[in-house]
Amino acid sequence: MLTFEDDFVTPAPQPRVLAATPETIRDVESQAMANGFRRVRAEDKRVINAQSDVNQLVPFKYKWAWDKYLSACANHWMPQEINMQRDIELWKNPQGLTEDERLIVKRNLGFFVTADSLAANNIVLGTYRHITAPECRQYLLRQAFEEAIHTHAYQYIVESLGLNEAEIFNAYHEIKSIRDKDEFLIPFIEVLTDPAFKTGTMDADQKLLKSLIVFSCIMEGLFFYVGFVQILAMGRQNKMTGASEQYQYILRDESMHCNFGIDLVNTVKMENPHLWTPEFREEIRVLMKKGVDLEYAYAEDTMPRGVLGLNAPMFKEYLRFIANRRCQQIGIDPLFDKADNPFPWMAEMIDLKKEKNFFETRVIEYQTGGALSWD
Ligand code: FE
Repeated sequence: MLTFEDDFVTPAPQPRVLAATPETIRDVESQAMANGFRRVRAEDKRVINAQSDVNQLVPFKYKWAWDKYLSACANHWMPQEINMQRDIELWKNPQGLTEDERLIVKRNLGFFVTADSLAANNIVLGTYRHITAPECRQYLLRQAFEEAIHTHAYQYIVESLGLNEAEIFNAYHEIKSIRDKDEFLIPFIEVLTDPAFKTGTMDADQKLLKSLIVFSCIMEGLFFYVGFVQILAMGRQNKMTGASEQYQYILRDESMHCNFGIDLVNTVKMENPHLWTPEFREEIRVLMKKGVDLEYAYAEDTMPRGVLGLNAPMFKEYLRFIANRRCQQIGIDPLFDKADNPFPWMAEMIDLKKEKNFFETRVIEYQTGGALSWD
């Protein structure tokens, strides 16, 4: 039997610790400096290629990253907190939903059940080790956990509705419009997860910056939006309200991932202006256009006919609107002449402080003073 007492060892007498005086502190510091160490100064920190110690969170330099970490923690939630009973009843009722509505749910989950695993892998195995600002690493650790929560949420919906798991989890291999989006993304993950990849050259740093842009502006900033609109539109019509509530929490997290990524990109640009060449900017524009085409193909595939007051052509305008916005956020000229937002209600969904009932759930317990501020 295991008894913890057996392993108990009487601690050896400890050497007497002298009280630290200004002199002894200076001695310790100068001794360390003689051995080649230097205390971290905020001005030495860099988002990429820093020489400063990545293990020392303070002194803070990137306050925007630390603030996002605090806000993300304040917004903590778990999928099981949301009641799925009404969704289960609706799904099981043969008259509950039309075939087109069921197709939307299945295609939607088909994309999302694996998308957040790709995002998590990209952070944990790729991005994280190339980012040298500890405040940004701290946020990335939080973001990685949120990606796990999102995968959990999608799995929880699949399980609640009793969907065919093999069909949903293999959709990214079997459904062309989903596979095409993921095949577009994977090379930008693989470049960062390659053990031989190292930053510090013009070519490598541009590759890293390009991957950061693809992830924040195209994956989290564009590829999620047809799916979000569809499920949230269902919720607005009092259908799949549990799934819709899960998606609202996810959308709130994802819009912060996207904004963090944009801040990260803009800081890398500011610290390394030589990377932002006209050729590089043109490459980003081409990738953005490709992203819009792929997401539009996904909209057509998931909505072969009009459904829920939505149809694929409405998304053409919406995706152009979002792509222009993402370009503007990272300092690239808009791609499309004129594009308006056909779903103004989505802005309110993102800006959840307006959703009064939303915070009347358990999540409020995680709120701390002043942590929620949405610009
Ligand atoms: Fe994300």
